[in-house]
Amino acid sequence: MIPILENLDRVRKSIPADVKLVAVSKTMPIETIREAYDAGQRIFGENKAQEMIDKEPQLPEDIEWHFIGHLQRNKVKQIVPFVSLIESVDSLRLLREINKEAAKIDRLIPCLLQFHIAEEESKFGLSLEEAEDLLDSDEYMDFDNIRLCGVMGMATFTTDDEQIRREFRALKVYYEHLKKNYFQDDQAFREISMGMTNDYHIALDEGTTMVRIGSAIFGERNY
Ligand SMILES: *Cc1c(COP(=O)(O)O)cnc(C)c1O
Repeated sequence: MIPILENLDRVRKSIPADVKLVAVSKTMPIETIREAYDAGQRIFGENKAQEMIDKEPQLPEDIEWHFIGHLQRNKVKQIVPFVSLIESVDSLRLLREINKEAAKIDRLIPCLLQFHIAEEESKFGLSLEEAEDLLDSDEYMDFDNIRLCGVMGMATFTTDDEQIRREFRALKVYYEHLKKNYFQDDQAFREISMGMTNDYHIALDEGTTMVRIGSAIFGERNY
């Protein structure tokens, strides 16, 4: 048995009160998520749309579901009715689809722009230039059902702490650049989602506002 209550307590004590904790519940069964819920956790993160769609109706309504994985456009319609933050927006096309589906049901969907900060090719995300192109586009101006709330990124999977630190610093620089040039008067644009089980201590040093933690809470995943 994984001591979820103890794990959650330990993780919570290790992050400041103003940093949001996203409990990454991917691959975890409903009972396990409910245990974390009963221990007071309210924000959960999932990286597969279908999995999140299946879990959501089985769990309490006051859960805030964050979508943190690569989102296919054909799944947008099904998550838009309940998702509270899409952390992984990496294209104008995706944003367009989210806006379209959100408009149909009259919702405003909070989103983060995901940046590619890791060395690994495999990880998704925008470059600063791509993000600026998106924000400069005429189309973006007309997305009335999207609220951009900040940035997200995943560091390289490595034991080299200095490399991870450099990548997190780069994300913070991107955030500050966008804040200054596009969102200066927008209170909603304030999140930097960075840090997972193995690197969130570094992310805290580098100014994260939102950590996404799975294994330190739920134990190792069996795929
Ligand atoms: C799985 C995942 C996490 C959490 O990973 P842990 O190492 O288990 O903490 C965080 N962010 C994203 C995008 C993930 O896919």
